[in-house]
Amino acid sequence: MTEQSRRFGTLALWAAHRETAAEKDVALPIHHSVSFAYDDVDEWFDVAVGKRPGHIYSRNTNPTVRPLELTMRALDGAEECISFSTGMAAISNTLFALLGPGDRAVAIKDTYGGTNKIFLEFLPRNNVDVALCDTLDFEAIEAEIRKGCKVLYLETPTNPTLKVVDIARLARVAHEHRGIVIVDNTFATPVNQRPLELGADLVVYSATKYLNGHSDAMGGILSGAKDLVDRVFHYREINGAALHAHSAYMILRGLKTLELRIKRHNENAQQVAEYLREHDKVESVFYPGLPEHANHDIACRQMDGFGGMLSFALRGDFDQVKLLLPRLRYSHNAASLGSVSTLVGPPRVTSHVELSMEERRAMGIPESLVRYSVGIENVEDLLADLASGLAGI
Ligand SMILES: *Cc1c(COP(=O)(O)O)cnc(C)c1O
Repeated sequence: MTEQSRRFGTLALWAAHRETAAEKDVALPIHHSVSFAYDDVDEWFDVAVGKRPGHIYSRNTNPTVRPLELTMRALDGAEECISFSTGMAAISNTLFALLGPGDRAVAIKDTYGGTNKIFLEFLPRNNVDVALCDTLDFEAIEAEIRKGCKVLYLETPTNPTLKVVDIARLARVAHEHRGIVIVDNTFATPVNQRPLELGADLVVYSATKYLNGHSDAMGGILSGAKDLVDRVFHYREINGAALHAHSAYMILRGLKTLELRIKRHNENAQQVAEYLREHDKVESVFYPGLPEHANHDIACRQMDGFGGMLSFALRGDFDQVKLLLPRLRYSHNAASLGSVSTLVGPPRVTSHVELSMEERRAMGIPESLVRYSVGIENVEDLLADLASGLAGI
């Protein structure tokens, strides 16, 4: 477990309140305005050059978006935080703002599909040298860092097999080589894992997942060292991937219950994982909270909870998956994750649909794998649902 946890319940409600309470609103208003008017031209100028606080144009800053950023800044324990239209906008803007021709990036192979595309397709096009390493071969990752590393990019736990990467160990080596350490903390959220305390310089999120938590708004977050976040903000202002005020409101509303939700996700997922692991139609279960998980020790050290994501392989082939999914009553067969309701999907038709069977095998993804994003339902209903679903295959 990491440092003493922040009081997330209180922070999520109050961290941004003082700065935004001019009208004494108890609930934040949604500022749809594109621009903000000034009677005094000198004041307008001062706001434009950042000499005094205020907003000019919503592609840059907005009075509903900023409180979300201040709240995430507090939850992450960061110097600065900015938001984006989606998680991929956060990731791509960050990488393109910090990496240029001749630079070298080191990353793990098991990043989110879209992130992987940036490393394989778009960064090399900009003459960025990319080394993608086996996610759990920490010695190989360290060896690549020693060859040169402007950016070390990690994601943990990973999708879909919940590998756990040792952030503190790899950050230490990256810093010896002046690398900037970025961690995608989407699966864990600050409640379960705080990469900045473990040595990362920047942490990114798809806010579309747990931070919003209700499958009804998209967004991205970047928190960390102020000088780095400011560089990415400068890029985002021009690139234009700003978060809309309405989505910011939805995510901020979701954050108010983040701690409650994550605790329930953690409890439910642990019970579902323990149930599935004993089931004779289940070949294997991937969940960092199980003692037999390959990196359970690292997970215990760097996480305060093991999260709501798990995956399991059925005995047999993909046909078993096709039989199981329609039989489940309490889960949407849908992409995405981190929602209050349970979401289920096979990586073969979602995140890893573009890979061949051989490529999936090389990544350790069985054809019969089911990814299960455990919701906050009453867990006895999920267990009964899985029992009857599995009985029918
Ligand atoms: C979904 C996801 C993303 C991308 O976020 P979007 O909001 O869909 O753009 C990035 N990283 C992880 C781990 C994700 O699960």
